[in-house]
Amino acid sequence: MTTNQNAPVILYEDATHKNVLLPEYGEGVAVQANQHLIIDKGRGMILDPGGHKVYAKVLAETMHQLHGSQASGGFLEHIFLSHQDPDIVAAVNGWLMTTDATAWVSALWVRFVPHFGLDRLVIDRLKPISDEGGFLKLGDTELMLVPAHFLHSPGNFQVYDPRAKILYTGDLGASIGREYREVKDFDDHLPAMDGFHRRYMGSRSMMTAWVKMVRQLDIECLAPQHGACFRGKAMVERFYQWAESFDCGVDVMAGKLALPSH
Ligand code: FE
Repeated sequence: MTTNQNAPVILYEDATHKNVLLPEYGEGVAVQANQHLIIDKGRGMILDPGGHKVYAKVLAETMHQLHGSQASGGFLEHIFLSHQDPDIVAAVNGWLMTTDATAWVSALWVRFVPHFGLDRLVIDRLKPISDEGGFLKLGDTELMLVPAHFLHSPGNFQVYDPRAKILYTGDLGASIGREYREVKDFDDHLPAMDGFHRRYMGSRSMMTAWVKMVRQLDIECLAPQHGACFRGKAMVERFYQWAESFDCGVDVMAGKLALPSH
């Protein structure tokens, strides 16, 4: 995997299916974010497309990838929103206005996302995902919408691509402040994600339930929305063992909650 931040990273590719991590477009004070694109037979799904600062570049690169794919006349079919945060949702109106894609978000957030400014013309193309999750067809592939509530948002989904064996984990597994796009040394990587998970993730019980659930899937890569990916079964296993090993969220905060003092 290349470390050039300005080149797309191909996470998986076969004759008709491709998983692309788009180039690093973010800069300035906004938190670094990954934009992932899945293409099957010329049909695309963009995951967590991000906010206004990256919108034009991510859209242009998405269209470039789609039209460069083997099937001519490629088009964007789905926009997946793992949860309601601005780094994911803020530019969704632009995506809906410039494409014919359908956007998917947890049913909990369908009435909140329009506050980012959704045009009446496109509002019917924002669709709810029920708590149990489900499946979305993309070309010949059926993508699984995996429930991952409270990791970190109360209404939160991940995407499992069985063809590429990639689980797109959203904020789970996110890391900040490292240049590389693939984790090579898990222990060295830990400080880049530890603090974030202890504060943002809902609870150890949800983390443990998530590990138990996703162990049923055949996963070669965990691809978060911020920072580096975890590639290979051994690295994925390291992540699972770590994910179950610490208190976080309400485990930590409930005992600490107190009125501020001067
Ligand atoms: Fe978030």
